[in-house]
Amino acid sequence: MSSAAAYEAYRGLLALQHRGQDAAGILTYDTFTKMFAMEKDLGLVAQVFDQKKIENLNGFMAIGHTRYATAGGDGKRDIQPMVEGIPFGLGMVHNGNALNYYQLKAELSEKFRHQLLTGNDLEALIHYFGHFLMNGDALPTEKTFTFDNIKQAAGKMFETVNGGYAVLGLIAGQGMVGFRDPKGIRPMVLGLKEIDGEKHWCVASETVAMTYLGYNYLRDIEPGEVFFIDMDSNFQSAIVKKEPERAHCMFEWVYFSGAESAIDHQTVYGARLKLGVQLGHKATAAMQAGEIAPDVVMPVPDTSRTAAISVADALKLPYREGLIKNRYVARSFILSNQDKREHAVELKLSPIVSEIAGKNIFLIDDSIVRGTTSIRLISLLKKHGAKEITLGITCPPIRYPCFYGVDVPDSKDLMAHNKTVEEMAEMIGVKKIIYLDEEDLRQAIGTTKLCMACVNKKYPTVVTEAENYARERKKARAAG
Ligand code: SF4
Repeated sequence: MSSAAAYEAYRGLLALQHRGQDAAGILTYDTFTKMFAMEKDLGLVAQVFDQKKIENLNGFMAIGHTRYATAGGDGKRDIQPMVEGIPFGLGMVHNGNALNYYQLKAELSEKFRHQLLTGNDLEALIHYFGHFLMNGDALPTEKTFTFDNIKQAAGKMFETVNGGYAVLGLIAGQGMVGFRDPKGIRPMVLGLKEIDGEKHWCVASETVAMTYLGYNYLRDIEPGEVFFIDMDSNFQSAIVKKEPERAHCMFEWVYFSGAESAIDHQTVYGARLKLGVQLGHKATAAMQAGEIAPDVVMPVPDTSRTAAISVADALKLPYREGLIKNRYVARSFILSNQDKREHAVELKLSPIVSEIAGKNIFLIDDSIVRGTTSIRLISLLKKHGAKEITLGITCPPIRYPCFYGVDVPDSKDLMAHNKTVEEMAEMIGVKKIIYLDEEDLRQAIGTTKLCMACVNKKYPTVVTEAENYARERKKARAAG
């Protein structure tokens, strides 16, 4: 038995480290011992795993996860993958959030007497999927599931779980299963490589992982699609719930995904260049109106670099790096509490004073969420002699919470909520803020089928349980 699958999962997680830095884990199923093997812990991927741990993860199939906490706390209890041994072996990871988690949890307790052991919605998903897969059978001994069983179970999951989720699982001794929410809010991509005539499959949140591992990016898993890969590497899939409108998270293009990735065969890098072009149009108008007069265009590293290149081209101004990122400090937005975030802002950027002092700077950033980062950045630039600063943001104002797996908090914690753009500019300390609007975003990304609920409050699923969810989420986060 080999740990090659675990080693590939490890390398894939390294490529996806930007998606979560709280914790990491890998699960395999060893067909020889007929047991799951799992390693997971708090920390970065390279801190969690060493060679010995990976060598212990035997099996032809592996699933892995990097976590940033949007449901549950950020303690050890809630790290993924998670495994259930009863009524059969099922281990899973997921990206996203079940908006009706607290309702599912109550139902599990009342109807099925399941006591959940964690605060992570994945645990509820595992119980439900296992239950639906059993389809009421009490004794599953040596039961082999057919793809029809799996399709039926996924269909019931789509009816039961409200939210944005991309789920991947290992069924003991049988294979790998995966499904994506019917609106396609959270991403999931499929890749393939052939070695000596054998098919090797890779499923990931982003194409960067599969490119890094030498897989060919075939396609995105469709919204409402379920697939199964058996132990002989046969791939079967079906769309079991088709919604009229997909609603892919716009934040994947704006901020979350790596620039090297593609979503629906549209490159994230290309989309960010176009976001910069759109912002350039708006800034040109402001310059022509005499509202701003920047000398240089400067990105907030790293995500905004790509857009800033296009803005500089559009304005025919020099592009300058004035802030250098310490790559060993985690991204501030996805660190999971305010203290950690504020500390990270101070640690992570060093100024190049010669590019800042005496300059009128057009500073490009991807978003303003809580406003913490922007306030500190502007103060840093001013401390080092910036004369005047205009802030260009490559998405519209974020005014509403996200319930689908991105840590956009309650409205009252969002700087743009209940404030005009002028009020925000004053609070942050800049001359002007230039935002993109929703139409700019659609044009740059090249699709109208986007979730922009954190911008326009048009949630792609029913959010009647959102208030309860937000309250419980806050309590869980405060408890850590
Ligand atoms: S609400 Fe915002 S962050 Fe959440 S899925 Fe929709 S676009 Fe993405």
